[in-house]
Formats: sequence, C-alpha cells, structure tokens
Amino acid sequence: MVIEVKQEKKDFQESTKSNPNHRNDYFDSTVLNKIEEIFNLPIPELIYKAQYIHKENHDPRKIQFCTLSSIKTGACPEDCHYCPQSAHYKTNVQSHSLLDKESVVQQAKEAKSNGSTRFCMGASWRELPEGKEFDEIIELVKSVKELDLEVCCTLGMINSDQAKKLAEAGLHSYNHNIDTSPEYYEEIINTRTFQERIETLQNISNAGINVCSGGIIGMGESTKDRQKFLAVLSSMVPHPSSVPINALVPVEGTPLGDRPIVDPIELVRMVATARIMMPKAMVRLSAGRKFLSDEAQALCFIAGANSIHTGEKLLTTDNAGTSKDKEILNKLGMSIL
Ligand code: SF4
Repeated sequence: MVIEVKQEKKDFQESTKSNPNHRNDYFDSTVLNKIEEIFNLPIPELIYKAQYIHKENHDPRKIQFCTLSSIKTGACPEDCHYCPQSAHYKTNVQSHSLLDKESVVQQAKEAKSNGSTRFCMGASWRELPEGKEFDEIIELVKSVKELDLEVCCTLGMINSDQAKKLAEAGLHSYNHNIDTSPEYYEEIINTRTFQERIETLQNISNAGINVCSGGIIGMGESTKDRQKFLAVLSSMVPHPSSVPINALVPVEGTPLGDRPIVDPIELVRMVATARIMMPKAMVRLSAGRKFLSDEAQALCFIAGANSIHTGEKLLTTDNAGTSKDKEILNKLGMSIL
C-alpha cells in the first residue's frame, strides 16, 4: 500500500523535491475541478448526493465513537498557530510527560465502556523520539490492542522504521493531519513543511497502517484553500481510511485565538464534499463540535459524517461529553457503531 498522487505518480516525489514550491503536484487538477463543482452545489443538492454515496458505502444510522487521549501534553517545539500545546505560546494548558501504562489502559477501558471502538493516543512531539519513550509507546499500543479496540496514535512525524515497528505492535491507524492547503500551510506552521507531513503519511501507508489525515477550517483560509486541502487528500491512493474535519477552536494565547467561530453550514459543506470524494473513508467530526447545535450535528451526519470524537476533552480543548453524544444519537434514532 503506497500513498501516491493518482496522476503522474512517478514524478510526484521528484518534482516536490526539486521544486518544493511547485505545490500543484500534491493533487491532480481534475480532482480539484471536480471538488470545485461539488463544493459549490446548493446545500440541498450537495447533501442529497453525499447521502446517496454515504448509504451506498456505510450504514447511515451508525456513528463510530472514538476517544482521543492526550498521553503527553504541552511543551511542543512546533509552532502550529492553532495549538495551545505549542511552547511558542502562552496558554493555560498544563503540560505533563508521557503517562504511565496503567493510566492510559484505564482511560482506554473507560472509553470502551462508554461505547468507543477506537482509542487514539496523542502526544505533543515534533517527531516520535527513539529509545525509552518509543519502547513505552510500543507497550501502550500492545496493551490497548489487547482490549479489542482499534488503536490509533498521533505522535508527530515518524520514520519508516518506526512505522514498521508500530505496525508489528498492532497499531491500526496513525493520525497525521495535513491541516490545510499546501499554500496556506505556510501561514499556519513554520517549523515543518507540508512535504514532511506527506513523507510521514507515506511511511505510515508503506508499513500497512491505516492513514488518518484531515485538517482544520476557520483558520483564515480561503474557500479555494479548503478545496485544495480536500484535493490533496482525495488524490492520495489509496484514500485515507479516516478523514477528520475540524473546526478551529480559538484558544486565547495562540495566534488564532481571535478567529471567529466557523459557520456550521461551512462545516456541512466540507463533510459532504469529503464524503462524495472519499466514499469509503470514515469522515470524522472532530474539534469544534461543541459549537454545533443538535440540528447542525444532524445535518453533518446526513451529509456523511460517521464518526465523532467523544469524551469531555479533545486533547486539551473542551468537547461535547459522551452522555450528550448518546442523547443526540437517541434523539435522531441512530446508534453507536
Ligand atoms: S498540533 Fe501537534 S505538533 Fe503542532 S504544536 Fe500542537 S502538539 Fe505540537
């Protein structure tokens, strides 16, 4: 399994290496044209198309619960402008080093008893360290897998050797978001390149681990940036098996702390377009869900979102609690996958 751009596969890596600003190489222009067409449809038509594709590929009555745990928090050397865990900004996040196995396993058990079938462990590293911490991560992956949960990690950049070892330990998925379009990326992160993100995704995929990759809207990007962000993901072969769509949660102290809250209809548009372009993917409603009314969440589910991150916290920001999530599903006559 190799992530590649559908068209001009063999030129992809070479051209981005020799000309890192040649950003159009990250996606196929026919894919972008198709996305523009879909994205701009009137909402009723867009949702109708998305729902049709969703029903063909998934059970539209079911939503997967995924719990995201911050196993190592804060003091991150990266400068992601949206992130309160970055050491570059002054925020209220309480840093802690890697949690011990007992605490993480306990969290995973609670997540399972609350209906989650996927448990994602997040750590605020630029890249996964070698040595003791890597060994601890391997142990965590094995222990959570023993609970019969889909084990996912989001630990920063990883190399091919680390990816292989994580796969051997039983890692189901690895999350590494591309965040936004290649062009707008440079407005949001300066400490690592878009290309480095793509390389980590290639390492994950080559090791046989499922790729989870998405991004964030509401960071000041244009509509075209949103379309290009979806074009990069939709041009990957295979498509990511999981696509988290986040709405920015503006956190005081970060450079994006003053951004307005995203209009829910814009989120619906992103979800529906992602569903149409990547029919088999799990489209995950992630950060920003606490700003959505029940009606807006229902619209996102109708548009093809089939997973939510549940629990009181989403890494460090507030999230809708599990009981509230169950209440909404009940009200909609839906159930947990
Ligand atoms: S998003 Fe991840 S890599 Fe970026 S600053 Fe936050 S913890 Fe670090």
